[in-house]
Amino acid sequence: MPFHLPKISNQSHAQCVLPHPVPNPYWVGYSTKVGDLLGIEQDMNRPIHSDHLQLLAGNKVQIADKSFAPFATAYSGHQFGQWAGQLGDGRAIYLGDINGYEIQLKGAGPTAYSRRGDGRAVLRSSIREFLASEAMNALGIPSSRALSVVGSDLQVIRESVETAAICARVAPSFLRIGHLEHYGHNEMDQELEQTLDFLIEHHYQECQNSPTPYLELLKSIATRIAHTTAQWQSVGFCHGVLNTDNISLLGLTLDYGPFGFLDVFDNTHICNHSDHSGRYAYHRQSEIMHWNLYCMASAMLRPLQKELARELNLSEEDAIHKIKEILNIYTQEYAKKWQSIFRQKIGLNKQMPEDIQLLENLLQSLHQQKIDFTLFFRGLSEGHVCPAAMSDWDKQYQSRLALEVTSNDQRLAAMQNINPKYILRNHLAQRAIEKAQKKDFSEVATLLKVLERPYESQTVSEDYASPPPPEMDHIAISCSS
Ligand code: AMP
Ligand code: MG
Repeated sequence: MPFHLPKISNQSHAQCVLPHPVPNPYWVGYSTKVGDLLGIEQDMNRPIHSDHLQLLAGNKVQIADKSFAPFATAYSGHQFGQWAGQLGDGRAIYLGDINGYEIQLKGAGPTAYSRRGDGRAVLRSSIREFLASEAMNALGIPSSRALSVVGSDLQVIRESVETAAICARVAPSFLRIGHLEHYGHNEMDQELEQTLDFLIEHHYQECQNSPTPYLELLKSIATRIAHTTAQWQSVGFCHGVLNTDNISLLGLTLDYGPFGFLDVFDNTHICNHSDHSGRYAYHRQSEIMHWNLYCMASAMLRPLQKELARELNLSEEDAIHKIKEILNIYTQEYAKKWQSIFRQKIGLNKQMPEDIQLLENLLQSLHQQKIDFTLFFRGLSEGHVCPAAMSDWDKQYQSRLALEVTSNDQRLAAMQNINPKYILRNHLAQRAIEKAQKKDFSEVATLLKVLERPYESQTVSEDYASPPPPEMDHIAISCSS
């Protein structure tokens, strides 16, 4: 795998560090789709390529440039609403850049930013990150990707003794709101501007020709984040830890931890057991992401004020006004995207003002009747009759459908392309993890295959599309990872 010097925004926020080797690594999971994306030579059919295995275990890293190769970055951030100060890549090490994608080894050992952590990740959380990244991508939701999980019998201590794994994750950039906050908070204005310029040059070229590119960048990032958040809601995805250090500046879903997909629809579902106040509950994700954008705008304040004074002659105070006004785009874009997806989920092509009430009534009924979120929408797209408990809503729905012009078949086909049959339910991940803990990795591979085509009915057991059996309902997902 030929690595190039990574296209990072600047090097002053990074420290070189080599991954720490692990004893006797073995493959746990491998995505040939991500391998293709990176252009990795895979004549394999056998990703069991020992050089790659050693590389992705962190045991044999090629140095791209002697002065600057494998590194970890500093970032700061707000955790659960409080300023947390400096954090950083405590267990993720950048290997380099291939084909325009950065590759990180997560769980590759301590870095300058590990604080009291061991720099490792457990097998359980690495499998969850691997499967979730690929599942989200297949659902059409922007996400970091995952090339592989490599396991080792190296012991790591969490609530109990577990074994370590390394997940190779991939994204065009792993820059987070937390990076901007790091520079903003430490008055590193030069680094801050360098990073904003980097983002514009490589990821937000549409901002380049604006007289106020930083303001335009803020707007574009807010828009991307709004769209991703609306997509989360549409598949019942709860991230679990929407701290600013986990929020991608590209609008990608990032840092999979105690995430969860809803089984029964519970609007107030909290997937993270440590989130006692429900700050990151399903129904709060959108407002929290808006709050995170305020943190981002505060971090960018000085460059923004400078730009707005220069270009628009605005006072510092008027600039703040302008920035707040720009951030309203988030609310508008989120609502637009949410409405558009949910209309499609129930097969409405025309836009009518009363559709919003119909959708609200639907979610209220699903919540009250504790109906499985994914199964309901999939059932609707396969032409099943609504559950009896939903008959009131169904009456409203049928009279609204009468105003549509598309044929039944056309409508159902379109609905099947937006209402997944397969999502990464906790119990499915748990089954794959329990087998993997006994060194049987077949279920990781099978589940990956299923999740790579979430909208197509596949010739696999219906269990993959079913709610958890009672004994696996509400399994506790430890947030230690
Ligand atoms: P997370 O909750 O995984 O997003 O992590 C929050 C912060 O803690 C980040 O700066 C991580 O790099 C760091 N961190 C989490 N787990 C570990 C670990 N085992 N060793 C070192 N740092 C860690
Ligand atoms: Mg994180």
